[in-house]
Amino acid sequence: MNKITIAVDGYSSCGKSTLAKALASELGYGYVDTGAMYRATTLYFLRNDIQLDDNEEVNNALCHLNISFKSLDGKNCTFLNGENVESEIRGMEVSNMVSPVATISAVRRAMVARQREMGKEKGVVMDGRDIGTVVFPDAELKIFLTADMEVRGKRRWDELTAKGMDINLKDVVENLKERDRIDSTREDSPLRMAEDAVEINNTDINKKEQVEIALDLVNRKLASFI
Ligand code: C5P
Repeated sequence: MNKITIAVDGYSSCGKSTLAKALASELGYGYVDTGAMYRATTLYFLRNDIQLDDNEEVNNALCHLNISFKSLDGKNCTFLNGENVESEIRGMEVSNMVSPVATISAVRRAMVARQREMGKEKGVVMDGRDIGTVVFPDAELKIFLTADMEVRGKRRWDELTAKGMDINLKDVVENLKERDRIDSTREDSPLRMAEDAVEINNTDINKKEQVEIALDLVNRKLASFI
């Protein structure tokens, strides 16, 4: 086997996408940001005033949304029905609604089916909350990222303010805590570490060190197949 599936899961703002993107680029693998899919779905629901408890409305909406990714100037961008929504899906309006939307089983079924399709050839790094437990339970390498809340809040705040968003740190931290709470207590596919995942706590290590640790895990895994 020369290409594997790599699942990167963890709580909000633990640096999953940073690690997953770096790994994909080092290995020449594809990268899928599954959080962006739930965020784009949430944006569609907000724009179309979809009632979350109305199954018919939700199912109908799911038939009308097409989510895709494209790299523009080296940046991974999310498209919703052909429109680049990358910056809108990172804003607080979507951040505050995405976890309730992600509790809906019909939404999860639709996203998981698309994710499995995107990863079926292997050679993919996918980050999210349920990749190692539900989407690809047979992934050859599962990484579960953790970091202290203070560090996570500051990182997310830095990211958002660098994009020009006017937002205070307290609101960012509250949003992370609330999403963690909903994501880990929902009935369908709650966030939890897969039994065979490797935990990396990146509170005190930099991005480069984190990538080195992960690449070492990948190389060991690949070597075990020889
Ligand atoms: O990764 P990100 O923080 O952008 O994800 C946004 C939200 O999408 C999460 O808080 C969670 O509610 C949902 N999500 C999920 N399952 C995934 C990825 C994201 O439920 N695989």
